[in-house]
Amino acid sequence: MGNNGSTRASRKPSERSSRKKPVGGVSRRALLIGGGAVVAAGTVAVLVRDEVKRAWWRVPGVEKPRKAGELDYAGATWVAASEANWRRADRPDDFGIDRVIIHVTQGSFDSAVRVFQDPAHRAATHYIVGQDGRVVQMIRELDVAYQAGNRSFNERAVGIEHEGFVDRPKDLTKAMYESSARLTASICARYDIPIDREHIIGHVEVPGTDHTDPGPHWDWDRYLKLVRRAATAPPTPAPTAPASASAKAE
Ligand SMILES: [Zn+2]
Repeated sequence: MGNNGSTRASRKPSERSSRKKPVGGVSRRALLIGGGAVVAAGTVAVLVRDEVKRAWWRVPGVEKPRKAGELDYAGATWVAASEANWRRADRPDDFGIDRVIIHVTQGSFDSAVRVFQDPAHRAATHYIVGQDGRVVQMIRELDVAYQAGNRSFNERAVGIEHEGFVDRPKDLTKAMYESSARLTASICARYDIPIDREHIIGHVEVPGTDHTDPGPHWDWDRYLKLVRRAATAPPTPAPTAPASASAKAE
């Protein structure tokens, strides 16, 4: 399960400074100073500064176009997480993506969907995979999910929850392993992530976490074998999610 941990501090404006980069030959700093220089101090200045900030986000190429309900993985159904549980970003351009983090929900599929829709939860992953193999995407891969209690890992990882309890090996079904492996293979292919245990890790392996998922029963050898097989297999038609997977979609 995700937790917020240090990620809550990640909303500090200072963080944005690390994302500075040239746009059409004009650095963001130059753009801001240029915009700020033409206005006087006071409320108007604040309004104009906000306007300039918004203009920054409209510069072509800085932020990719988005459509409501758009998916990064064709085998998923979209259900939006609460915006309190993730941070808008423009990955992999602002933060490179080089990790997949595996979680186990410690609850049912529906309860995981519910808590990710709850703004008070302050945590979520990009995907949830059910024991029947269904996949829901709740956060775009462009964005940073508050999933691992570690800001830098959150910024460069895609997170996948799996329905079940860490102390119940029977929860980790064949359908879930195979479906999750297809999803992870697709993530690895899109961001050129090596399929190995350095880049596909458990929440428990994230520095600073107090979480133990996916637990001792998660079969890493089996999972990596399935991911490698999915990575080399010819593309198969996207699985059709049961109707219940789209319940409560926003
Ligand atoms: Zn977790």
